[in-house]
Amino acid sequence: MPAPLRHGPRHWVNYHGTESADLSDLVELQNSTASTGRAVLRDVAHDVLALLQQARQAGQQVRPLGAGWSPSPISVVQGGWLVETRNINRCFRLTARDVAPGRDASCLMLVQAGATVDEVNDSAEELGLSLRTGGASNGQTWAGACATGTHGSVLAAGGIQDHVRALQVVTPSGVFWVEPHQPVMSPDFVGATGSTIFRDDDVFAACQVAVGAMGFVTAMVIECVPIYMVRNIQKRAKLARGDITRLANGDFRGFSRALALDEQPHFVQVILNPFAPFTRDALLRLLYLRDFDPGIPPPPRPLAGAGHDALTLIGKAMAGLDLFRADVLQLAMRAGYATQRDISDPEAVATWGHTTEPHNPIANLFNGSVTMARSDLERAFDPLIEAFLNGGGGTVVTLRFMQRAAGLLAPARFENNVVIDFDGPRSDVSHRSYRAVVARLDAMGIRFTRHWGKTNDLDAARVASDYGDDYRRFRLAQRRLLADPGDIAVFRSDPLVHLGLID
Ligand SMILES: Cc1cc2nc3c(=O)[nH]c(=O)nc-3n(C[C@H](O)[C@H](O)[C@H](O)COP(=O)(O)OP(=O)(O)OC[C@H]3O[C@@H](n4cnc5c(N)ncnc54)[C@H](O)[C@@H]3O)c2cc1C
Repeated sequence: MPAPLRHGPRHWVNYHGTESADLSDLVELQNSTASTGRAVLRDVAHDVLALLQQARQAGQQVRPLGAGWSPSPISVVQGGWLVETRNINRCFRLTARDVAPGRDASCLMLVQAGATVDEVNDSAEELGLSLRTGGASNGQTWAGACATGTHGSVLAAGGIQDHVRALQVVTPSGVFWVEPHQPVMSPDFVGATGSTIFRDDDVFAACQVAVGAMGFVTAMVIECVPIYMVRNIQKRAKLARGDITRLANGDFRGFSRALALDEQPHFVQVILNPFAPFTRDALLRLLYLRDFDPGIPPPPRPLAGAGHDALTLIGKAMAGLDLFRADVLQLAMRAGYATQRDISDPEAVATWGHTTEPHNPIANLFNGSVTMARSDLERAFDPLIEAFLNGGGGTVVTLRFMQRAAGLLAPARFENNVVIDFDGPRSDVSHRSYRAVVARLDAMGIRFTRHWGKTNDLDAARVASDYGDDYRRFRLAQRRLLADPGDIAVFRSDPLVHLGLID
């Protein structure tokens, strides 16, 4: 197996050009070509362990890098080593002899940390499986997406990290197989991956959304569901205030009945024009579960997803405008949902993996979000929009819905969550508007959290108060896995210290 490539000192810029770092080394992991998943995991972990030990000896900081998609600075380390994981991207089938007695292996997959969500989707479908949920695009790495609690708008699911059942995590002190107390994999399997079993419910829950502060993840076991398809409705429609009430109450069936199919939706996403939420069209995307039909060919392009990005692009033009913003935004939204698929159109049905699409980088993107209890949406809605506009208004406001997600630091920590996204140009106006929203929610006493990977203005005190006892448990779990202070020091970075996730 080829050794990791050491590219040496260089200036590194993240995917959207929002953060950069002067590195003392950019390291590119190479993958093993071994034929079994166990052997591949052992080979890669061996390389990562050697790197981490070398870094500890040299007093260097190491930051594992996924796709670099997080606009926030959590994936940069000034003066340290950034370790690219994109080449470690293989996925493997698991069988009954790999798992602990009594475990069902039929929906499990072994996924290397650097596999993109797209690659995991493809592998899952080859095995007759589907992911339960995912984000709006699919270029994040699996470990990177889990690290921030990446989510979409599947009503009955949490975040992408909810798929994880076990992880291989490397620290300078060793290679660990982290599972909850209840065994997942067989001791033979774990031994063959070169890992030491580490069973601890809180350490596992800390690793599910670790923000890069729980060691170097090299692989995960994930649990999918039998393959399914979704019917896609994507349309412009005027919302009434009562629709917000329905959404806040979780009456998605009623929302869908009024605006699309008289059927319980699987996924509901609403993109609003904040300048005129009830008099201008909103963009709706609703997905409905369908049985898998092998006779339906994959669509020539993914079914959905384009809307979000077109809006962001056109949003840049808005940053300099004072007048006619509602009109310009409406034009942008029309362009974003140029293709409508209403209930009377021929049915557009595809597998879950074909409903998300790749993405092109947008320089100077702003995206921030707040996650709150869905029941707070009704009273928060008007003040939040007002605050957003008082701040100058960015571009679109998106509502997404999800269940409580797994992981001590999962932002979706309420029983039922609404996530409100603010996507637009990276300008003072966007920042100001987002801060105004945060301040207004605080003033109203509404509890909310923020996305680790997006612009969030968080600091250690706020993280500690947002996550309370779960934050304390996270830090205790961190000390159990990374017991030697020298091990934690390897993963130190200014942004993680600022967030209170590492001392
Ligand atoms: C176009 C676009 C669309 C997006 N859509 C959504 C969306 O729909 N929903 C949503 O919730 N978010 C969304 N996001 C945010 C994105 O999903 C998260 O920022 C995600 O964490 C990025 O994954 P990544 O692989 O790029 O990780 P990175 O940004 O590279 O890293 C994120 C964190 O994970 C750590 N990390 C990465 N790999 C490892 C590893 N192997 N071991 C340990 N730590 C590791 C890094 O050190 C860093 O702290 C979107 C972002 C973009 C750019």
